[in-house]
Amino acid sequence: MDLAAVRSHNDRTVLGLVRSGALSRADIADRAGLTPQAVSKIVARLLAAGLLEETGTVRGGGRGKPRTSLRLRADGACAYGAYVDRDELRVVRLDLTGAQVSSSVVPLAPMFAPADVLDALAPLVEPGGNVLGLGIAIAGPLDFRDGVVSPNGLPGWSAVPLRVLAEERLGLPVAVDKDTNAAVLAEAWARPLRDAALVFAGTGLGMGLLLGGEVHRGARSGAGEFGHTTIQLDGPLCVCGRRGCVEAVHNAAVSGTEAARVLAAAVVNLVQLLDLDQIVLSGRRVLESPELYLRALAGVDVSVSAHGPDLVPVGAALLVLGELF
Ligand SMILES: [Zn+2]
Repeated sequence: MDLAAVRSHNDRTVLGLVRSGALSRADIADRAGLTPQAVSKIVARLLAAGLLEETGTVRGGGRGKPRTSLRLRADGACAYGAYVDRDELRVVRLDLTGAQVSSSVVPLAPMFAPADVLDALAPLVEPGGNVLGLGIAIAGPLDFRDGVVSPNGLPGWSAVPLRVLAEERLGLPVAVDKDTNAAVLAEAWARPLRDAALVFAGTGLGMGLLLGGEVHRGARSGAGEFGHTTIQLDGPLCVCGRRGCVEAVHNAAVSGTEAARVLAAAVVNLVQLLDLDQIVLSGRRVLESPELYLRALAGVDVSVSAHGPDLVPVGAALLVLGELF
């Protein structure tokens, strides 16, 4: 499917409004501040593109005339999302409403190379039809604009042009972002978040940052390397080559309680630095014993993500799907 059909700001505004609930053309005009004529044209185009559908009639506010209500057509478009973790590949497919319609996980052998990831992706991703593209999430550092990655913890991966390699191999548009940015996108899709951090404790330790409701990537896509801030001088060696990073100290902790205390100390520093109003926790380590982490962070507005292990691949798919809204 060609995104060029849905290019204008107004098209995206209309799709965004309808995403929040079925609406009539008149409701859309009111909320978007557009004329009824403009809304009629936009809606006609989106119906023709198969992105909206009509869903019966609703009574219009006292004026008696029934109005046709519009909603997203779930099968009108879809997007794939992939998470390249340090030991496995997770792939999901989302429909136009953001609902997950499929999910797969395959192991990745130790010291896997970029070609191994493409080999694993190929049978799981079918281009064509109404597929918008594939979002790939992976550990940083990486360059969000050109999709070149040098992920910590993946030996041999240095300046890999992952976006171009994947587009050539799979034959569909690809976006690449950090796993933690994908995670915070997935969290913010389901509920409004403004100044928040998604702290992800999986095989690595990272953070996706939302400032003013937007993902904050920084000047060189380097923002959020929370796991590689120093918390213990001369501490344990980290995969990034330095010592005493939050990630290394967290991984070296002798018990779950101790690991949660380490993470909590680092999160409190972060909340104080940025005046965040919400912290969301996820990742395998947190999901194994969420109560330990929630207890250690009792003084902070903290919750555990409602998404399970597919949080990151869902967010990766939203990198692509989110372009429509
Ligand atoms: Zn480090």
